[in-house]
Amino acid sequence: MATGEEDSSSSGLNLEGIDDVEDFVWGSQGDSESMSLGRFSHLYDLMDMGNKAFRDNRFEEAVNCFSRAHNIKPDDPIILNNRCSAYLRICQFLKSRPPSASEHRPLNGLDPTIHAGLALKDAEHFINIRSQSATPYILKANALILRFEQARDAIISGLQVDASSNALRNLERMTTNLFGRRVHGRPARTDDFDCTLCLKLLYEPITTPCGHTFCRSCLFQSMDRGNRCPLCRTVLFISPRTCAISVTLNSIIERNFPQEYAERKLEHESLTNMGPDLIPLFVMDVVLPCQKLHLNIFEARYRLMVRRIMEGNRRMGMVILDSTTGSVADYACEVEITDCEPLPDGRFFLEVESRRRFHILRNWDQDGYRVAEVEWVQDFSPPEGSKEKYDLLQTTNKVAAYARSWIKVAQETSHRACFPNKSETTRKAVSPSP
Ligand SMILES: [Zn+2]
Ligand SMILES: [Zn+2]
Repeated sequence: MATGEEDSSSSGLNLEGIDDVEDFVWGSQGDSESMSLGRFSHLYDLMDMGNKAFRDNRFEEAVNCFSRAHNIKPDDPIILNNRCSAYLRICQFLKSRPPSASEHRPLNGLDPTIHAGLALKDAEHFINIRSQSATPYILKANALILRFEQARDAIISGLQVDASSNALRNLERMTTNLFGRRVHGRPARTDDFDCTLCLKLLYEPITTPCGHTFCRSCLFQSMDRGNRCPLCRTVLFISPRTCAISVTLNSIIERNFPQEYAERKLEHESLTNMGPDLIPLFVMDVVLPCQKLHLNIFEARYRLMVRRIMEGNRRMGMVILDSTTGSVADYACEVEITDCEPLPDGRFFLEVESRRRFHILRNWDQDGYRVAEVEWVQDFSPPEGSKEKYDLLQTTNKVAAYARSWIKVAQETSHRACFPNKSETTRKAVSPSP
């Protein structure tokens, strides 16, 4: 949470050269002869009260005193200087006040824009009287900077409503070029922008019906283990397919913390698009290239894996567990998800087709499932007419004949299961040769 301290420092509206007010010196005003002693004494008291109020940070009261003094002596540079400084301080205070402070104690009165305008008017009046002094120019510059900040605020607010507005984008560029990158008006990077599940900057935030916000992937990873809000345990009837990202919040985060957001994006993409030689593994069975099969994905870790795969290249490796070593086999096959049907309860019904074989170089755990670094198996064909080619052909023919007889037996067996009264002789006739 933001503290009041942070807010006043992050507002960054340091008024340069406006540290104190000027003292109104008794009898040094030259034209004191033109007003009665009583009137001058009253003026002196007003200025004294005003300066005390200013130094105690009671700026409204200071303005009040200086204004009364100004009515008595409208062209006095010290009065103008002091009132202008007080207006600037009020403007600075209002601009740096956190919104939470207004909730506890609402302010009545003029807004910062008007105070900056009044300060500007006093500064210009001061310049007309003392154009040879730097002080009125310092006041004028501060007033204009406060107004400039307001222009920036308007541009940023506009961009949060319509990030695609070319006019606002050009204005932002212009003000940035003129004044450098503004950091003051940005919200402080507090943990309000963090996801309570991964404790990192929210990425693709989703706000649940109970009002809690999480990264999209974090929320659905948590919902793989039950359909409740991870924070308040409200039952949620949402799914990754139907739940949209909070677009406005996402663009506010992206705009205000661009570097961190880019890192989060990269992190997310590295999980969905792992790179050419990295592949997530589905540990189940051996598959052969071109084989098609259907899978019912219900385990939480594989649901997460499938969601990530579906955002990427739709490919994973299928591998069997080697019973002798207890770890995954060295060779496996890549499968492509040709059809993915997400079910309302979070399961997936997949149709996959096997593609290339690969050799697993190393594998590790990632969020519960296995990921492997692989090297793709390249087939090589022996030269035409060579002994290797001949042997390979012989082996292929033998395997094909064996496969055909195996299929035949399988068909006969299923046929027998359907018609159990067939004679024993038929059964003998179809037994395969080894
Ligand atoms: Zn998260
Ligand atoms: Zn909740």
